[in-house]
Amino acid sequence: MEVNDKPFWWEAKAPIKSPETSWTDHVDVVVIGCGFTGLGAAIPLARAGHSVVILEKNNLGEGAAARNGGITSGNLRPSNKDLVRRFGLEKAKQFQVEAIAARQDLYDFIEQEKLDCDFNLVGRFLGIPDKTSLDELKRDADQFYKNFGIQTLVSDTKGVSDYIDSPKYKSGTFRPDIGGIHPSKLLHEMIRVAVRDKVKIFSQTAGENIKRVGQSFKIQTHRGTVTAEHLIVATNAYTGKELPWLRRRLIPVVSEIIATEELGENFVSHLMPKKTMFGESLELGHYYRPSPDGKRILLGGRRLSSNIIESRERLKAGLLGILPQLKDTKVSHHWFGNVAFPFDQLPKIAIHDGVIYPAGFCGSGTVWARWLGQKAAGMILAENAETVFSDQKFWTLPFYKGDPWFLPLAMNYYKLRDKLSSPNKHGT
Ligand SMILES: Cc1cc2nc3c(=O)[nH]c(=O)nc-3n(C[C@H](O)[C@H](O)[C@H](O)COP(=O)(O)OP(=O)(O)OC[C@H]3O[C@@H](n4cnc5c(N)ncnc54)[C@H](O)[C@@H]3O)c2cc1C
Repeated sequence: MEVNDKPFWWEAKAPIKSPETSWTDHVDVVVIGCGFTGLGAAIPLARAGHSVVILEKNNLGEGAAARNGGITSGNLRPSNKDLVRRFGLEKAKQFQVEAIAARQDLYDFIEQEKLDCDFNLVGRFLGIPDKTSLDELKRDADQFYKNFGIQTLVSDTKGVSDYIDSPKYKSGTFRPDIGGIHPSKLLHEMIRVAVRDKVKIFSQTAGENIKRVGQSFKIQTHRGTVTAEHLIVATNAYTGKELPWLRRRLIPVVSEIIATEELGENFVSHLMPKKTMFGESLELGHYYRPSPDGKRILLGGRRLSSNIIESRERLKAGLLGILPQLKDTKVSHHWFGNVAFPFDQLPKIAIHDGVIYPAGFCGSGTVWARWLGQKAAGMILAENAETVFSDQKFWTLPFYKGDPWFLPLAMNYYKLRDKLSSPNKHGT
């Protein structure tokens, strides 16, 4: 079977050119990048009466937003314990409170706008392969419930089979407030809403040579120059050299996914009885899920090799490590995209030289990208702009220009941690 190198999602919704619209020389706000962040920012601004242009370098739907796993995790990369250690209990709580609000806000938006994106609040099961104490997991779950009102269920080895027919996990936790979407459908639906609300979108139009002129911004494109009172940069892991300030602050990492051939709904239901979303409590664990039609399984992880065949084999081996029943199953699709990490592994929204930069979603942007895009809009509208992510220092390293030479070292370190089984990701 030939493996399709385009995202499985594009079979339902492929990238498109923007609808025909006339060029504008001056607007209130220019947004660079048409993913969840850019659209998340543009929609509330247009609704508040601002003229908004989104510039997108490629076709609409070629960035990470329409390539991702579609898990509405809204996760934070540091564990709860790490957050408490770094920021103290009260601030650590604020991160979780905001994650809960951001997830709910996405669900409300999908419902209010009747977005056709296969949203299903099925929950997420986190498989734990090592011998973590069940008592400790239950204590953490109780604490989480007490603090945030969300009941995490803890499964022992036998209980794992309620979620997945896998020999890999000794225990697991289930979060009911995480679900799945079809990412490309969600992106296209957000584009529909934005265009309806009078956002002008220009695909194949890179924002280049970006300059501040007095209090305004001047952005050159091959279509012409546009000036704007405000500028939001929503390019995240695809930030190029034309945006050096942001590029120096993000570490782009490749994330990739395989989709199996059709297995049939009965077989998938047998393997994943509750058809939930899945993650693993490992530094380099996999994320996986059934396809929205329940006929295939999609599994993703970080790319560790630049060789496509090797990296596909690694993902397939990861899938078989979880579900050895799939040993004769073929891979139908294998694709990749970029995710972006700030050095402290927490999402950011920063203003530098007047430009607003929401970025660095650490592979959990389905929730965070749209949320921090909205916060960027809030900063311009002077309402609903509060976020715990705005007062974090967005730092960089001397001489770092956005080419992460140190990544292989970091990946080896994480591999070693997984081998020694000292994961820090058990948290709810
Ligand atoms: C394989 C994969 C799996 C993932 N799985 C999940 C998941 O299951 N759950 C989850 O929550 N998150 C997941 N993510 C992460 C999530 O997709 C991203 O965090 C999110 O899409 C970021 O959205 P964005 O709008 O900021 O960036 P993008 O969607 O990448 O959009 C940025 C856009 O900016 C454009 N651009 C760049 N420079 C310019 C320029 N100069 N001018 C004009 N346009 C420009 C790019 O072309 C791009 O389209 C995954 C990501 C990948 C790659």
